[in-house]
Amino acid sequence: MAASQRFLCDGMLGSLTRWLRLLGFDAAYAGSTASDEEVLARAEREGRLLVTADLALVQRCLKKQVPALLLRPATKEEQLLILLTHSGADLDPARFLTRCTECGALLDKVGLADVADRVPDGVRTTHTDFWKCPDCAHVYWQGSHTTEIEAKILDLARALARG
Ligand SMILES: [Zn+2]
Repeated sequence: MAASQRFLCDGMLGSLTRWLRLLGFDAAYAGSTASDEEVLARAEREGRLLVTADLALVQRCLKKQVPALLLRPATKEEQLLILLTHSGADLDPARFLTRCTECGALLDKVGLADVADRVPDGVRTTHTDFWKCPDCAHVYWQGSHTTEIEAKILDLARALARG
């Protein structure tokens, strides 16, 4: 994946981080306690596009030639479109829902036996496909991945990917 398709979202952009992971991108979240220096250094070290709502941080990135994108308050759909346009990131539906939305790791497909104790009764009897995060052990099944707004983002992305 090109460097332009790896992202580091700053502390104000937690939900954007989740959508990028839903869409299969390698998206890291800076957290709300990291300083500007730490965030900038991490973007540079890991070769990520720094995505932020902080103009001063973007100006610091420009000085150090670290790629950065300033996202102004907008609807979630608009922010996503701006980011995709700016980064030139490819939308590939085959990558959608392949990452953990909590931590960003690529999910492993597992059997019911591997996750039976982590899945509600109603789900255990109606689902056969499960995925587990190798890093944080979060368990997913068909339909568990998305909230309502995230499902809308996925629909938008699928429409864009079709062209
Ligand atoms: Zn995880």
